[in-house]
Amino acid sequence: MEIDAAREVRTTCPYCGVGCGVLAKVAADGQVSVRGDADHPANFGRLCSKGSALAETIDLDGRLLHPEIDGRRVGWDEALDRVASTFSQTIAEHGPDAVAFYVSGQLLTEDYYVANKLMKGFVGSANIDTNSRLCMASSVAGHRRAFGSDTVPGTYEDLELADLIVLVGSNLAWCHPVLYQRIAAAREKRPEMKIVLVDPRRTMTADIADMHLAIAPDGDVALFTALLAYLGQHNALDRAYIDEHTTGFGQALFAASKLDLAGIAEATGLSEDELGRFYSLFARTEKTVTVYSQGVNQSSSGTDKVNAIINCHLATGRIGKPGAGPFSVTGQPNAMGGREVGGMANMLAAHMEIENPAHRARVRRFWNAPALAEKPGLKAVDMFKAVADGRIKALWIMATNPVDSMPDADAVEAAIKACPFVVVSDVLESTDTVRHAHVRLPATAWGEKDGTVTNSERRISRQQAFLPAPGEARPDWWIVAEVGKRMGFGEAFAHATPAGIFAEHAALSGLENDGTRDFDIGAYAGIDGEDYDTLAPFQWPAASQGSPPTTRFFANGNFYTPDRKARFIPIRPVVETRTDEKFPLVLNTGRVRDHWHTMTRTGKSPRLSQHIAEPFVEIHPADAQLFGIGDADIVRISSPRGEVLVRALVTPRQRQGSLFAPMHWTDQFAAKGRLDALTASLTDPVSGQPALKHVAVRIEKFAAKAFGFAVMRARPASVAATYWVVAKCRGGWRVELAFADDNMGWADFAASLFGAPPTSDTLAYHDRDAGQHRIAAFDGEHLAGALFVAPGPVAVSRGWAAEKLEEVHAGQRERFRIVAGRAGAGRPDAGATVCSCFSVGANQIAAAVAAGCTTVASIGETLKAGTNCGSCRAEIRAIIEARRVQAAE
Ligand code: SF4
Repeated sequence: MEIDAAREVRTTCPYCGVGCGVLAKVAADGQVSVRGDADHPANFGRLCSKGSALAETIDLDGRLLHPEIDGRRVGWDEALDRVASTFSQTIAEHGPDAVAFYVSGQLLTEDYYVANKLMKGFVGSANIDTNSRLCMASSVAGHRRAFGSDTVPGTYEDLELADLIVLVGSNLAWCHPVLYQRIAAAREKRPEMKIVLVDPRRTMTADIADMHLAIAPDGDVALFTALLAYLGQHNALDRAYIDEHTTGFGQALFAASKLDLAGIAEATGLSEDELGRFYSLFARTEKTVTVYSQGVNQSSSGTDKVNAIINCHLATGRIGKPGAGPFSVTGQPNAMGGREVGGMANMLAAHMEIENPAHRARVRRFWNAPALAEKPGLKAVDMFKAVADGRIKALWIMATNPVDSMPDADAVEAAIKACPFVVVSDVLESTDTVRHAHVRLPATAWGEKDGTVTNSERRISRQQAFLPAPGEARPDWWIVAEVGKRMGFGEAFAHATPAGIFAEHAALSGLENDGTRDFDIGAYAGIDGEDYDTLAPFQWPAASQGSPPTTRFFANGNFYTPDRKARFIPIRPVVETRTDEKFPLVLNTGRVRDHWHTMTRTGKSPRLSQHIAEPFVEIHPADAQLFGIGDADIVRISSPRGEVLVRALVTPRQRQGSLFAPMHWTDQFAAKGRLDALTASLTDPVSGQPALKHVAVRIEKFAAKAFGFAVMRARPASVAATYWVVAKCRGGWRVELAFADDNMGWADFAASLFGAPPTSDTLAYHDRDAGQHRIAAFDGEHLAGALFVAPGPVAVSRGWAAEKLEEVHAGQRERFRIVAGRAGAGRPDAGATVCSCFSVGANQIAAAVAAGCTTVASIGETLKAGTNCGSCRAEIRAIIEARRVQAAE
């Protein structure tokens, strides 16, 4: 495609469900720069650290650029023929349910639409599910139970208009940073706004919370069920709304009333005083928004949690009004778009229901698809079980990495390895999943592809290409359509452009909609290429007969149930104990600020890789003492399914009896960091979403004989250490190491790490008695690599060592300083990166605080830290607070 390099292209961030607008520009020298789009209503110009670093993630290192069959480069025709013929043959021999697609919330709506159409319409199976099943399936199920449709009633503006925001299982500061910034800015203008955080951990989001409820794992069902009873007992109900617009209130209240305060305190782990203060605040605040994300959804009771929350909003009539409503925030950039096209196994298309014969007949007619699937397909966890037991014999994985992200990940990997035919379309040639594919199909990446995404507030925005497709990479929709044609469905897959696909999707959404379906963008059914290219972000609904005057749903009822009334769901909280003597701790999994999913993109950015460069586990000091674990020890976490090795972070922010660990690290970045090897395939019975945040585990110190840290210019081909974690840094790579054996040939080990022969220009220091070894190898005037080994965690400053890769080392004195492992006088160590935008470290911020900066604003004035994307402001405030406490002691 022709790209106009002088033009600034309006596109959308490919990370989280906030869906920020991005302006991307390619300079004459090919350099790409990005900035926030001030006109985009999701972010008004803001970007978080991940969005700001997008330009660092688009190089072609590691890209899959040509189709391959069994590791052999082939042309597109051969690859597509192989996929089409194997799928057709499998269907002919074993039936349509013997094949499956596992797709992704990273796909654009147009990609998703075509994949869903091929599987449900023409293969005749509904075996298409998505990694969004791991993200927000419980919200979908909860919405459909209560509203009769998967509708998010509110908008982001409600977060600024609310007088009370309740954040449940949602670390917005790190996972949806721009929404967090919008709330923080609104709170600065209206300090009377109250924020309650419900989370087992004291996350960075607690920085703006007036109240932090450190709830027991899965205690949220009891918390909100009992809130309903409290609202009933304290005359805080909207009787008119309940009577006019809902059904089932009596049964829901009856079920809720069975809980007594002592029982709720036990189920939630909260004191009666905490419960009383929260309930009273909720009851008296009309403008309340309850925001929830993975902490609610990723649970075996996720759908009940969602309905327990929605029940409280229905009972108070606080829904669809400015500043009031339940609000599900999605993790992925296009989880909502996937829901709209029916990209989940239990949905049809355009929010129509696969179980509904009239809906099926309509879609069958529209697609001219006589083989349309008649029943729901297998949800993600069941799908991989079917791969494991041989029911599914041909599997196509698109834009996702289930070997790392699915629960019981080792079993999922074994299933994929054993599957007779696996196709993976991806942008990278080497991921933990791609390595098992029989056919690898190179897909275009962010910046090269065109289409639309929908964010958490139902806003559809364009993603636009500003770079040419590299090698033979092709858009996902094109790849799927070509396979569809080769399977004999040419007429249905004659799409030539994403604009045409979007127009078809829009037409289907509006087809025969008499107001009984929420998702309707029929106004765009006739959109042409030009209008599509300049399409401004818009919120649905956008029906062909004109949009309603409000962008919110349900203030006046009109739900999408047969009687147009919302359904209260009676909830009976169940307190589940999963721990036992062997596995006494609860593991909660989640994310860090500067990484995304399995790091296939953020792992390329030196800036993002410096904030947290290593997988870790947060453990409460009392638990650390109990299990003999010190800060920075390497620990082994085990469950009945697998184990990981990570670094211990001892912190009172963690709840006693629970651990927290992030899910990003894969075999590409760590020796044993795949966290989902620990999680179970236990799912919510309604939504099928896995319970990734409540896993019984044990923890023990890994008795390392030696620890190491190294920097090197080239990424090591392999690392012969029991524990290693590799991360990108500015001049090359850095590696954390730990060894079960301290009797190593360190010179040879260093040479293998640096990719340099042992005869290269090398300086070394060995103190065998003290277990200290330091080796630096030079390539001319540049450092090829430096290795530091010690009997305990290596104390060398990571930032300082990484800087050495970018410097010239002509003199012996400078070279000896590297081997000494410390900066020279007057070269202070910046410490761990806090502000990724301006590379400001924790030590620099602490020094500024010691010098008199006592506010985040004054740190910004002195160091610039926190003045760009603002994602680090909570951490800066924590450093200021820690210094203040230290000074007071
Ligand atoms: S909040 Fe950050 S990651 Fe999410 S869409 Fe905006 S810039 Fe991207």
